[in-house]
Amino acid sequence: MTKSEELFKKAQNIMPGGVNSPVRAFNSVKRTPFFVDSAKGAYIYDVDGNKYIDYVCSWGPGILGHAHPRVIEAVKKVCEKGLTFGAPTEKEIILDELIRKCVPSMEMMRLVSSGTEAVMSAVRVARGFTGRDKIIKFTGCYHGHSDGLLMRAGSGVLTEAIPDSAGVPKGYAKYTLLADYNDENSVRELMQQCGEEVACIVVEPVAANMGVVPPTSTFLKFLREITNQYGALLIFDEVITGFRLSLGGAQEYYGIKPDLSAFGKIVGGGMPLAVYGGRKDVMSCVAPIGAVYQAGTLSGNPVAVTAGIETLKILIENQEIYSEIDKNTAIIEDAYKSIGLQTKRVGSLMSVFFTDNPINSYKEVATCDTDKFAAYFNHMLTHGIYVAPSQFEAMFVSVAHSADVIEQTVDVVAKYGKNV
Ligand SMILES: *Cc1c(COP(=O)(O)O)cnc(C)c1O
Repeated sequence: MTKSEELFKKAQNIMPGGVNSPVRAFNSVKRTPFFVDSAKGAYIYDVDGNKYIDYVCSWGPGILGHAHPRVIEAVKKVCEKGLTFGAPTEKEIILDELIRKCVPSMEMMRLVSSGTEAVMSAVRVARGFTGRDKIIKFTGCYHGHSDGLLMRAGSGVLTEAIPDSAGVPKGYAKYTLLADYNDENSVRELMQQCGEEVACIVVEPVAANMGVVPPTSTFLKFLREITNQYGALLIFDEVITGFRLSLGGAQEYYGIKPDLSAFGKIVGGGMPLAVYGGRKDVMSCVAPIGAVYQAGTLSGNPVAVTAGIETLKILIENQEIYSEIDKNTAIIEDAYKSIGLQTKRVGSLMSVFFTDNPINSYKEVATCDTDKFAAYFNHMLTHGIYVAPSQFEAMFVSVAHSADVIEQTVDVVAKYGKNV
């Protein structure tokens, strides 16, 4: 038995499925997960001495690669001053100002500790501001695990959602309406039925939690217009796209300004930190100046804030990073295409889809052959490359994925092509 297998056995006795977040259990690729010892740059090392090129990058935060020396140094230094105060620090202002410099729609914001919290809070603010209860989300988009956002389409009436998890009260389904990503008509129909009751439409501007599904050329603009028309707010969940597609996130990339946004992953530089914010008049609803309550003991934690500041500074000082990772991801994409696989890519976000149906939305994603995906995953891992252990996740490329790492990846993909 390997050390990882031993640890996984122990872990299963004390954690549900042996993990602290379900996808880590490798269930959909039918093998036991490796346990990590450390990671540096483009590589992740397991407790059995294996070294992998890492295209998961902690599910998105690692745009600079693992353990960037500047970030580590800054974090070490700030730790000596104390880990948490529960009182304001200047660093929070510095991080907020950096965020607003990159993303001008973030006029006023709140720091929280996870993407789940950020989106949940943004939705509450939208409800508080509009005085409306209903929200629209899209099938296949993930916004964290808060009750109202864990909904999926029911089989009956178009508008009828059902909880996507046990433990979520059925009553929530009354307030969460489901539309289809990239399907303007599905949104129009819901708005015609009850647009005056809709507080917000929440969307991943590039869907990246059903595999990467880019928006059509008109979709985001349509969402902007229809929310304006009905007096609802538009919330961009940029937890993945923020600081990844560009410094200004998907809203800069596509030139659409939402009312509120949520950021996570990269913005915390590898620490538990996320942020929500947007229009000043809307964010003025938040306590203590407004009636929408939201709080956090560790919100704005100085260590996490420091990691965020240092990460954003590196990105701001080195903006050529974005064209570099775009170019490198395109090289990997070409390797997949040349062995006949379907890919979708926006910048350094990419997915390979095991289906012949052209991917536009969740319907087509759902037709993917997950057994084929599992075989592909196992091929990659056996050859030293760690991609996300699920068909429905993105591949993340970092600055640390250098030319030779990319070349090695292309070779392993080509080898996979010969075997299928
Ligand atoms: C990861 C993710 C979340 C949830 O963030 P957590 O930090 O895992 O709570 C929300 N929205 C999107 C788009 C995400 O990718």
